[in-house]
Amino acid sequence: MTDDLIPARLRVAPSPTGDPHVGTAYMSLFNLAYARKTGGSFVLRIEDTDRARYVADSEEQIFSTLRWLGLGWDEGPDIGGPYAPYRQSERLDTYRPFVDKLIADGHAYYCWCSTERLAQMRAAQAASKQAVTGYDRLCYGKTREQRAELPGFSPTPVVRMLIPQDAPTGFEDLIRGEVSTPRPDDQVILKADGFPTYHLAVVVDDHLMGITHVVRGEEWISSTPKHLLLYRWLGLTPPAFAHMPLLRNRDKSKISKRKNPAARLMWFREQGYLPEALRNFLQLLGYPPSDDASEVASFEEFVEHFAWQKVATVGPIFDLDKLNWLNGHYIRALDPADLGERIVEHLVWTGQWEPEPDPARVDRLLRAVPLIQERLVTLDEALGKLQFLFTPDDELAIAEDSRAGVEGDAQAVLVAAVEALEGLEAFDHESLQQLLRARLVDGLGLKPKFAFAPVRVAITGSRVSPPLFESMELLGRESCLVRLRAALA
Ligand code: GLU
Repeated sequence: MTDDLIPARLRVAPSPTGDPHVGTAYMSLFNLAYARKTGGSFVLRIEDTDRARYVADSEEQIFSTLRWLGLGWDEGPDIGGPYAPYRQSERLDTYRPFVDKLIADGHAYYCWCSTERLAQMRAAQAASKQAVTGYDRLCYGKTREQRAELPGFSPTPVVRMLIPQDAPTGFEDLIRGEVSTPRPDDQVILKADGFPTYHLAVVVDDHLMGITHVVRGEEWISSTPKHLLLYRWLGLTPPAFAHMPLLRNRDKSKISKRKNPAARLMWFREQGYLPEALRNFLQLLGYPPSDDASEVASFEEFVEHFAWQKVATVGPIFDLDKLNWLNGHYIRALDPADLGERIVEHLVWTGQWEPEPDPARVDRLLRAVPLIQERLVTLDEALGKLQFLFTPDDELAIAEDSRAGVEGDAQAVLVAAVEALEGLEAFDHESLQQLLRARLVDGLGLKPKFAFAPVRVAITGSRVSPPLFESMELLGRESCLVRLRAALA
């Protein structure tokens, strides 16, 4: 029987410490894919035990961005599930008995060292260039009274793991095979405020929630031996581990929110990327497809061919050109009506349009979408390309670099165009094209380029625009005439 046949339980366990990081989506994608591949479950757990770094809105943003990406969960803080609660701050009572057992069995001990003393200890270690660093075990084996007589005593203790000489310094990783790690330090597992640290809470919760595979970022590799010790001491079966490579910038540096706007998951939505394109992009960051043709793959296809062995261990480069290409691809594949709806949603979501936009504007936008669909890279570009359709005629400004297009000889073109439009019966793009070609190209003896450029500038305010005759049809005769006359004046 292969591993694939056992329904796996996986989780993503973000900490609500700010704007969600793109890495959270990346981890969610791989966890979810494997859960789906095995017919198992995907759990969202909020790891909010670090109260100093807690940010209130962050959790909501994690929910909304992951849902927007289509990476929904089967169990989580907002929807509940058989192992609720899924927020660690609501599970504080759960951890204490595990701590007590570790202390009783001699695997953990109280430490009353003050932060100042720990800082001094570290400074001294650094100065003496000692090979072995980490906690010096001043408190180990002492009662509170004994310890209180020594300097650097803090009345509220923490609890530390007593890392044995033979602590594991490696483990088997699903992606990397045998991994070796430095010997762990006497890790704090319960803080002075009574909250467990990540290390204890993650082990207890992964166990209680029946997690079979822990899939997380490579920054946790060195923590895994500590977790394995806790599993051993508590008599629990550890899950399998897979550590995903960190996403990297082009210069190979790690993607950080400080340096790269694309580290923020919300950035992609703000920019107008489609969730399916971003998901596909993140899929490609896991492992390159076997051939170019399979670069575009749905989540279902990704799940079907999913295998840990394929995941690259070198940090994948976050190449936004690839994402832009994918986004354009997905945009072109959409039904224009669907694309139109998504553009409207985007404009409302980003606050560029009011929550209930005027139906006439929406209608105009929906009708204009086919004009820009071919070349659109992000939803956010749409309004810029179509702005002239939403600008009142008397406010249309002619772009500085296009001004020459309506001066000099162009005057004759504009005069002829006005005359032509005044007499035109049917105001559709075919009739417009026929008529203007006859009057401006044939009538004035101009090359099409010179004949249509002034009209384009007058109508759209720019030398570059969506197809001219279709744009004119959308604007209607009145607007076109007003714009042509304004350009003449
Ligand atoms: N709370 C940790 C984080 O935000 C989770 C690490 C893990 O998956 O074990 O990265």
